Amino acid sequence: MAAELEAEVPAFDRGLLECSAEEIAAKWLQGSELQKEVYRHLAYYVPKIYCRGPNPAPQREDMLAQHVLLGPMEWYLCGEDPAFGFPKLEQANKPSHLCGRVFKVGEPTYSCRDCAVDPTCVLCMECFLGSIHREHRYRMTTSGGGGFCDCGDTEAWKEGPYCQKHELNTSETAEEEDPLVHLPEDMVARAYNIFAITFKYAVDILTWEKENELPGLEMIEKNDTYYCMLFNDEVHTYEQVIYTLQKAVNCTQKEAIGFATTVDRDGRRSVRYGDFQYCDQAKSVIVRNTSRQTKPLKVQVMHSSIVAHQSFGLKLLTWLGSVIGYSDGLRRILCQVGLQEGPDGENSSLVDKLMLYDSKLWKGARNVYHQLFMSSLLMDLKCKKLFAIRFARNYERLQSDFMKDDHDRELSIADLSIQIFTVPSLARMLITEENLMTTIIKTFMDHLRHRDIQGRFQFERYTALQAFKFRRVQSLILDLKYVLISKPTEWSEDLRHKFLEGFDAFLELLKCMQGMDPITRQVGQHIEMEPEWEAAFTLQMKLTLVISMMQDWCALDEKVLIEAYKKCLTVLMQCHSGFTDGEQPIVLSMCGHSVETIRYCVSQEKVSIHLPVSRLLAGLHVLLSKTEVAYKFPELLPLSELSPPMLIEHPLRCLVLCAQVHAGMWRRNGFSLVNQIYYYHNVKCRREMFDKDIVMLQTGVSMMDPNHFLMIMLSRFELYQIFSTPDYGKRFSTENTNKDVVQQNNTLIEEMLYLIIMIVGERFSPGIGQVNATDEIKREIIHQLSIRPMAHSELVKALPEDENRETGMESVIEEVACFKKPGLTGRGLYELKPECTKNFNLYFYHFSRAEQSKAEEAQRKLKRQNREDTALPPPALPPFCPLFASLINVLQSDVMLCIMGTILQWAVEHNGYAWSESMLQRVLHLIGMALQEEKQHLENLSEENVVTFTFTQKISRPGEAPNNSPSILAMLETLQNAPHLEVHKDMIRWILKSSRDKDKAERKRKAEIARLRREKIMAQMSEMQRHFINENKELFQQTLEELDTSASGVHDNSPVISDAKLTALGPEQTRVAEHRQVVMCILCQEEQEVKVDSRAMVLAAFIQRSTVLSKNRNRIIPDPEKYDPLFMHPDLSCGTHTGSCGHIMHAHCWQRYFDAVQAKEQRRQQRLRVHTSYDVENGEFLCPLCECLSNTVIPLLPPPRVLFNRLDFSGQPNLSQWIKTISQQMKALYLLRDEDHSSNSSSSEKMDQLQLPEGFRPDYKPKNPYSESIKEMLTTFGTATYKVGLKVHPNEEDPRVPIMCWGSCAYTIQTIERILADEDKPLFGHLPCRQDDCLKSLTRFAAAHWTVSSLSAVQGHFCTLLASLVPNEKNGNLPCILDIDMFHLLVSLVLSFPAIHCQDFSGFSLGTGDLHLFHLVTMAHVIQILLTSSTEEDGMDQEDTSSDEEVAVLKLYKFLCQCTGSALKEVSSGWHLWRNLKAGIMPFLRCSALFFHYLNGVPAPSELQVNGTSQFECLCSYLSLPNNLTCLFQENSEILNTLVESWCSSNEVKRYLEGKRHAISYARESNKLIDLPDDYSCLINQASNFSCPKSGGDKSRAPTLCLVCGTMLCSQSYCCQTELEGEDVGACTAHTYTCGSGVGIFLRVRECQVLFLAGKTKGCFYPPPYLDDYGETDQGLRRGNPLHLCKERFKKIQKLWQQHSITEEIGHAQEANQTLVGIDWQHL
Ligand SMILES: [Zn+2]
Ligand SMILES: [Zn+2]
Ligand SMILES: [Zn+2]
Ligand SMILES: [Zn+2]
Ligand SMILES: [Zn+2]
Ligand SMILES: [Zn+2]
Ligand SMILES: [Zn+2]
Repeated sequence: MAAELEAEVPAFDRGLLECSAEEIAAKWLQGSELQKEVYRHLAYYVPKIYCRGPNPAPQREDMLAQHVLLGPMEWYLCGEDPAFGFPKLEQANKPSHLCGRVFKVGEPTYSCRDCAVDPTCVLCMECFLGSIHREHRYRMTTSGGGGFCDCGDTEAWKEGPYCQKHELNTSETAEEEDPLVHLPEDMVARAYNIFAITFKYAVDILTWEKENELPGLEMIEKNDTYYCMLFNDEVHTYEQVIYTLQKAVNCTQKEAIGFATTVDRDGRRSVRYGDFQYCDQAKSVIVRNTSRQTKPLKVQVMHSSIVAHQSFGLKLLTWLGSVIGYSDGLRRILCQVGLQEGPDGENSSLVDKLMLYDSKLWKGARNVYHQLFMSSLLMDLKCKKLFAIRFARNYERLQSDFMKDDHDRELSIADLSIQIFTVPSLARMLITEENLMTTIIKTFMDHLRHRDIQGRFQFERYTALQAFKFRRVQSLILDLKYVLISKPTEWSEDLRHKFLEGFDAFLELLKCMQGMDPITRQVGQHIEMEPEWEAAFTLQMKLTLVISMMQDWCALDEKVLIEAYKKCLTVLMQCHSGFTDGEQPIVLSMCGHSVETIRYCVSQEKVSIHLPVSRLLAGLHVLLSKTEVAYKFPELLPLSELSPPMLIEHPLRCLVLCAQVHAGMWRRNGFSLVNQIYYYHNVKCRREMFDKDIVMLQTGVSMMDPNHFLMIMLSRFELYQIFSTPDYGKRFSTENTNKDVVQQNNTLIEEMLYLIIMIVGERFSPGIGQVNATDEIKREIIHQLSIRPMAHSELVKALPEDENRETGMESVIEEVACFKKPGLTGRGLYELKPECTKNFNLYFYHFSRAEQSKAEEAQRKLKRQNREDTALPPPALPPFCPLFASLINVLQSDVMLCIMGTILQWAVEHNGYAWSESMLQRVLHLIGMALQEEKQHLENLSEENVVTFTFTQKISRPGEAPNNSPSILAMLETLQNAPHLEVHKDMIRWILKSSRDKDKAERKRKAEIARLRREKIMAQMSEMQRHFINENKELFQQTLEELDTSASGVHDNSPVISDAKLTALGPEQTRVAEHRQVVMCILCQEEQEVKVDSRAMVLAAFIQRSTVLSKNRNRIIPDPEKYDPLFMHPDLSCGTHTGSCGHIMHAHCWQRYFDAVQAKEQRRQQRLRVHTSYDVENGEFLCPLCECLSNTVIPLLPPPRVLFNRLDFSGQPNLSQWIKTISQQMKALYLLRDEDHSSNSSSSEKMDQLQLPEGFRPDYKPKNPYSESIKEMLTTFGTATYKVGLKVHPNEEDPRVPIMCWGSCAYTIQTIERILADEDKPLFGHLPCRQDDCLKSLTRFAAAHWTVSSLSAVQGHFCTLLASLVPNEKNGNLPCILDIDMFHLLVSLVLSFPAIHCQDFSGFSLGTGDLHLFHLVTMAHVIQILLTSSTEEDGMDQEDTSSDEEVAVLKLYKFLCQCTGSALKEVSSGWHLWRNLKAGIMPFLRCSALFFHYLNGVPAPSELQVNGTSQFECLCSYLSLPNNLTCLFQENSEILNTLVESWCSSNEVKRYLEGKRHAISYARESNKLIDLPDDYSCLINQASNFSCPKSGGDKSRAPTLCLVCGTMLCSQSYCCQTELEGEDVGACTAHTYTCGSGVGIFLRVRECQVLFLAGKTKGCFYPPPYLDDYGETDQGLRRGNPLHLCKERFKKIQKLWQQHSITEEIGHAQEANQTLVGIDWQHL
């Protein structure tokens, strides 16, 4: 059926294409009934274009719709060809100065912390870069989609509302001008007509609910074609949907994934097409399959015509959006059409209709019309206001719809509130005209109907649905926040009135929270179930900012403040009347004072931590003081009605609860209570919880007799008995009291004293003390930094944020702290300035207990370091505001003195039970506070005032009868010498000293004089010093230089063997006596010498495939089983790297260790099924010493050449002779081999023919010199290299094993040479030990490996390798010299040569062979470089006199030209050629020097251990090369000419010279990680423009950048999973296989996190190289500070890569953090 339709389509198209838009429009223009005409047109054509088959064909549909449907509308609208009409409109348009760019998901947005009115005001990247805010403190985030750029909105910015681009538009248009004046009248009329019709059509069809008819349209197609439409919901998971679809519509998993992805993206997708029954059947299967667990998936069978019209309806809305983009006038018209009231009165405009239908629309439709609203209604200031009113009027309904809807808020029209309410003028208008505040609060309350008997919220036993609703309803609090975020500067009567009405509603809300979730102490049994507490705290937390903002509003207007205060007090009294029943009055008396209170025990009765009404009143009370309203209009305030005991009662209970919890009395109430107490003090809540409770106590106490207060407090703490009964303490010690109870009481006393300290000492809020807001924040910072130096983000976390997410920290931090920059790791830190430590208060009320003890320790340590006494006396405090001034009297009240005296008495009597050191410490602190207070009191006293604070006098007085206790001072004198109070001695001494100082003012004056005198002397001295230095300048200079030179001399301490020149190879090779090498096994600690015949010693090693040097990331080994690795291509596309941590073990010790690891792993897997960071099955293990990841071991060997070398160097052949001889030997071997294969021809005959070269004995089998154990290790490591390098199964017999060993040796040397070159380090002397050891063992191993492989295989390899340079008739089809990496060739040749040489008894030495091989390869490389060098004669004048080298190289080049038939480019400058040649060959020479150094053990000449200019000459000399390389050709010209000719005659060389193929040129540049931009937002922007390559233009959720090649990938997502070796893997893992042969380095752009991957199972996250100004990374982009590239850190990552340490790094990370092992890395 589908196929049939598909075939039909093209025929249709042609008919449709014949439609003429112009003619149709003309018809419409003439006709009288436009709507009918248009509808008829749509009814006929829409079903012919849309929904023609099971799958949508968007391109074809769009094309046809434009041609047949939209075209006529455009013609009609313009009255001419729209191709001319629209540009004309655009030109005539006076564009708005608003940017309005709608954000895509993941797009970066910017907000200015200095100028944005609130944090929701954001700019797009383009506007931001063109704005003044670039230079301000900005914040960067990624958009969640939706929302638009606020550039040009003058209400959004305090300064710089326009970027450069949008500023241009401001001067031309007056704000209030009607945009319609720029349009011709007839066009206005036509626009109204066509907009009205199309908009209505779209709204009607989208909101249509009937199944078999259309709104106002004829059903032209009546055939039985339906769609089974699947809708999105947020309940079912991807997996569930995919599984269900496979069952229901019988599709493949791939198709199902496709459906599910579209449903998730667009909100709906047809999953079946056909007749009604066919679709209905699928529907019932889906419903049946998904209804079991939750509510079923939404499925609907829809007629194809309806779906077609809906598709076009959406298209129309998009079209309208683009058409109004041409002209602000058209936009205005569309807005008016949309807002016009319909025939059904209220709420019948098209805009209303859409909004009210929002929750029923699918995702895709919502997105389209929301976008239209944003580009029309919200871009036109006049209409925005009208729309805001519509929105506010529908608010309640929209929110209720949203509660029922299960889509995220971003997808709901309700989310537009942020765009409307945050505009200050609109918010104010909506408050006064639409009573918005009240509406929001009432709507909120309406949705929280579940209450207890007293009318309080009850969250206990919430159903899932209620919980869901509760989560959604919280967004209303956000709306309330938006409305309040900008505060009014002027108040109208109306605004006052409506605000107070809103305030009433708000108090009603708080009333429902006052006393909610009450708790009772559990005694006896532990609670059975943890009660629900989170909901109440969530509410509190969300409301915290709103409560603060309410207070801010009140503070702005005196009348409002007074009214609000009265209202709040009334509500508080109402609350209290509810729950004071049954509390009996009692009388307390102490020290001659008595007070009446009620009997109430926190430990026995109900108590609640939620007291928002009390706390709001406390906040308002402070404002009365701060705004001075309390002093200006006392008669308007109900202060006389206040009952202080009533005010303090509930906050006090709450604080007592905390104390009791701390004393362990509430242990049986479980964790929920512990959590509540935690949040009560936490920075997120404390501002409107704990802090305000303290304020309320301060408020209450300031209005009462302090003695009364203290007695009530003692009673609530249940300590009244102890302090009111004389000698109660003694009873404690004598009686056999329960130790727990004593302990409990001690803690309660400590807590109570702490509370008194806070009540008297906490005066850093403006209004309580005489301070301003910055003093408050400074004090917070000082106390945080007293604990330890902190990073910026840590400090931010410790400080409360306001509604603009500001802590105010930046403005004061410089005054109290110094910034210390971060190094290569770690973060920047703030350190407290030393002069600020004097403000440290040990009993700072925001310290947690742990923080307090840490701070105490740190501060004491600091004092000891400064050699001061360790007393931490209370700091001097700012004075109270008048309203709170009487608080200080608490300190000198009789009851307070009695409490102090009692505790000191206990300490003096020293009866172990009844007191604690903390208790004493607090008493001392209180005494200290009182003394400070007294001092300030006296200092500020003017003549006529009376001394009212007489603490010293009081504490000098002994107790009265009957106690007759000594005075407090006397007791302190006693305690001063008590041995058990060593710690507090300094503090006691401080107190005694302070109390004795009577004439403080005098002392101060004296000190001042002394200071001035000191300063003067210092100034004189430093002046003298400067003179001295100036006069003796030269002398100083000299000493500095001396210091310098002596320092640099230290470098040169390398042992100089002799002055003779050092040569690494050949007959001239420098003989060095190899000293005995003795090493120690890290496992058994035994020492052993490295010798050929002793037990093997091995190094832990890690082999991996590598593409770090690759010049061609697309090349992969196609079929590893058949791949021939003999020749390495110069693009180095896939090498084998060997690394080692350098730790040495006995081979047998390692074997035993590895077996144990294996056994343990098997057991572990059976038991726990957990993974390890290493893969034992693949031979991986961790180095037993350093835990470095390893997968094999390398044996340690003495220099292997010594064993086979003969020392006789007389009569050695020259290169030509040598080649001739070798060629003969090779020929003989070939013949012998042929003979082996085909033994039919007689052997003797052949032997005669070939005439064995003199001294060559091909039947000779050399004896293997190595011990068994070394041989075994040679095989082990060789096989491992083969297995990993080729990714094949291990096979020690495979002839490719030796090749892989040589290759790994060559490749590893090349990587290390590159690292040294990139870092500009000398070749020798700067390698870390582990690399040095690794290269040495690797080279010697590779050189020895032939002894354990098949001799004939190695001989065969040698012959083939040599044939690539010296052609023979046997080896055809070898790569041409352009396609061979010469260093790999050299290493393989040199290391395979002994296999032939061992049968040669002619007297030729091995060294001679090495030298000739090296010269031969070097010459080939010279030719290779000359052929490929892209010599550019840059016209730079060279000296006329050419050097010998230049002449020679030019001659050689000319010869090459001859050989290649002049295809080579003409070059006349020998200077350029020589320069290029030198540069091109350097890496090869450097690698060769390393190679022969490790092979033969000749020390490096000292010149190569430092950087210098003569490197080239030194290398040549070390390598036995002439400085003028071309001499090699001249010396051996007889054979070389032939060879060069043969190299150049290769077809490939010809093709290259003809430009038909590419070749690598030299020197190859080092690979680097990609360049990253300095500003991180560039990357965010790049990622937001990136869409998933597989799911057509969809935004990728986790765009991830490969740092090696720069490819952006769609990571961690279904759409881009591919199959790799039979497993589904994510895009990153798949990418690593081609780009990094299994290893990858990525940047997860949204997370700002580096990702390391290795293989399928290994991975870790790594800190990104981007830092903010405070030296911190922002993983997860949570803080939004601007981030900039830290080059050093990026270099570090690059170095990890170049050193092949990524896998090792992952291993360490996984060992350190086991959770990393569990992550499914392959899905990223
Ligand atoms: Zn913008
Ligand atoms: Zn702009
Ligand atoms: Zn700014
Ligand atoms: Zn050992
Ligand atoms: Zn190690
Ligand atoms: Zn890549
Ligand atoms: Zn994708």
